[in-house]
Amino acid sequence: NYRSGTQIREDFLRFFEGKQHRRVHSSSLVPQNDPTLLFTNAGMNQFKDVFLGAERRDYSRAATSQKCVRAGGKHNDLENVGFTRRHHTFFEMLGNFSFGDYFKREAIAYAWELLTSPDWFGIDKNRLYVTIFEGDQQVSRDDEAERLWIETGVPKNRIFEMPGKDNFWQMGETGPCGPCSEIFYDLGVEASETGEDKPFPHDDQRYVEIWNLVFMQFDRTVTPEGPHLTPLPEPSIDTGMGLERVACVLQGVLSNYQTDLFTPLIARAAELTNFTAISNDLGAPPSPTVVSSAKVGSPNSPTLIEAAVSDAKGFASLRIIADHARAATFLISDGVQPANEGRGYVLRKILRRGIRHGRLLGQEKPFMHEMVYAVRDEMQTAYPELVESIGRIAKIVLAEEEQFARVMASGSLRVDDLISQSQQRWLADIEQGNRSNALIDAYKTASIQQANFKDRKSFDQLSRENPQDVAAVYESYYLVIPEVHMPRAVVSGSAAFSLYETYGIPKDYIADAIRDAGLIFDEPGFELAKEEEQARARASWKGGSQKSANPLYQDLQKTEFEGYSALRVDGARV
Ligand code: ATP
Ligand code: MG
Ligand code: MG
Ligand code: MG
Repeated sequence: NYRSGTQIREDFLRFFEGKQHRRVHSSSLVPQNDPTLLFTNAGMNQFKDVFLGAERRDYSRAATSQKCVRAGGKHNDLENVGFTRRHHTFFEMLGNFSFGDYFKREAIAYAWELLTSPDWFGIDKNRLYVTIFEGDQQVSRDDEAERLWIETGVPKNRIFEMPGKDNFWQMGETGPCGPCSEIFYDLGVEASETGEDKPFPHDDQRYVEIWNLVFMQFDRTVTPEGPHLTPLPEPSIDTGMGLERVACVLQGVLSNYQTDLFTPLIARAAELTNFTAISNDLGAPPSPTVVSSAKVGSPNSPTLIEAAVSDAKGFASLRIIADHARAATFLISDGVQPANEGRGYVLRKILRRGIRHGRLLGQEKPFMHEMVYAVRDEMQTAYPELVESIGRIAKIVLAEEEQFARVMASGSLRVDDLISQSQQRWLADIEQGNRSNALIDAYKTASIQQANFKDRKSFDQLSRENPQDVAAVYESYYLVIPEVHMPRAVVSGSAAFSLYETYGIPKDYIADAIRDAGLIFDEPGFELAKEEEQARARASWKGGSQKSANPLYQDLQKTEFEGYSALRVDGARV
């Protein structure tokens, strides 16, 4: 039952047209008249007011293939990209909607028919699982959905109840929401990271969520007393199915990145970065598979295995480039421009992360602006508007690449140096048995991972009081990370901050580079150094007006742009 990505999109819409749904075009990635939302993050966004009863349409059933970006706000998958097989920053969400028309029974029956009917997707029922909402203080357990799934033919032992974190869907802090029921596909034990045969739902890689059926029943508002749920005028249906994930299932591969939606982009990224690998499966999932295939080739060759590991890293970079090229192309096409705040900042961050991965593969020249043409070639059938705008998009991307190259020319080697120095100092400390238990304990409490500023401050205090104990290793802390049980070198936050200050290297860039090298970034230390610097600047610059933050982008404040505004040449701000 192989189907191309294009075919799946079309079949989905055709199926629901057959059930009296109106085919509605995707809305823009930039939400119209919705200040609560950074980017369109789900198919229901364009129908928000219809769900709330504030707007009427001349249809009560709709189906869409919606462009979505999840790179900020409540739904943020930016950090997942390249590391999971199922997350993208830009993806297409297939959805069917009922505005006070049908409810749970039909929503469940339609979804099951499309997925399993031999006339449609024909997916093996024995590979599917469904989940229902387990209930909480405000909303009761969804017994009804469970009963309807059983009536549809799903055995009870394939239905699992889940907490609100997974099975109570909300668009953001406010807006339409409700309990949901999700459908998962079992990719098989070969998809598992560890090779262990674990039952549903205990394997994130193996059991992939493909479709979320949301039973829209409430409008969520936030009052001074806390969140409040008001029933919607009419119970409604909102569903979302990731096109790339269904393509993965129907094309019989283990990763979205191995589908026809991505392989041409990954191949083009390999070309543009001159990447060559020993494995020629360009969409290959991360290391275990690649490594084991290398082992098969030559059981005892460490060089081959090393090559395979470096291949695996290279493939991760190619996936990131392919993903980010799609996101950048569509964001610019919808009117977003790189900027230092808000939406434009997220776009800038995406572009720069893509560029950085090109550099990791050795490509220092601009290449992302070429990627956008590959995106157009793959997507123009569904999104003809790309044909006209692609020249403008490429120009904007190229300008961003050139600007970034200027910043990097002065700073990227310093980041590499800082990382390798931290690593070497750490190894040397271990070798000399120079590890202070007091320090480890203090640092556990300080907990970089929880970014606990108060504890961090007291840790700094401690290090001042017991310098003999701490000084030797102060700049390369040990940290015991509970999940990993493996101490790793920590890159000093204040050292990272001085690179940011001196060269204007963005914090995200530094954080990414540290993470890729397998070290820990002392982010609280970075923030502390920044706070101190800002306090100094305020003290020496009285009377200026304080630029107030736009409440719209509160979620962005943590990641506010820190590139050019901090770039200094000969001590002067540029
Ligand atoms: P996950 O738990 O895998 O992160 P989700 O529960 O956040 O997914 P929903 O908000 O329920 O996702 O969105 C509906 C559907 O959209 C999902 O079932 C999935 O198929 C798809 N989807 C969600 N996020 C992504 C993403 N980042 N990339 C690709 N597809 C996605
Ligand atoms: Mg998610
Ligand atoms: Mg989920
Ligand atoms: Mg979900």
